[in-house]
Amino acid sequence: MLSEKIKSELNQQINREFSSCYKYLAAAAYCDSNDMSGFAHWFKLQAQEEIQHGMKIYNYLDDMGGDVELLPIEKPKAKFANFEEVFQSAVDCEKALAQNFNDLASLAQAENDQITHSFLKWFLDEQIEEIALTSSILAKIKLIGNETGSLYLLDQELGKRTLIED
Ligand code: MG
Repeated sequence: MLSEKIKSELNQQINREFSSCYKYLAAAAYCDSNDMSGFAHWFKLQAQEEIQHGMKIYNYLDDMGGDVELLPIEKPKAKFANFEEVFQSAVDCEKALAQNFNDLASLAQAENDQITHSFLKWFLDEQIEEIALTSSILAKIKLIGNETGSLYLLDQELGKRTLIED
């Protein structure tokens, strides 16, 4: 049912989601090592979300009779100059994922694969939220700068995040 090209691209996208999980875990570790446990908590949940996304694609590929192929995951960037750079990398990561899903949706359309195209709709909507969420936190970090009292309050706020199962 799925073309070889679509199967291959879906496997690539599974890899990108799991690679994002790894990037967010590295960001969490940086925050933990700098005693920002709320920021770290936020990134750990973000990492779990990426696993959920990867598994959504894994299950779709399997349901459609495709073979899941797990590709290598690169060592993520672990050193950051400051929290602004950490959240900037999260925004960049989500924008790149949005572009990947956009390209995948274009491919599905070009191949007249309406089932995959419909499946990808959820991810396109999800990426709007992901970009908005990470961008809003980055904007706050930029406003705060090195003001420790405000950083502490933001750490408390991000520490309250809960995981939403999709
Ligand atoms: Mg994702």
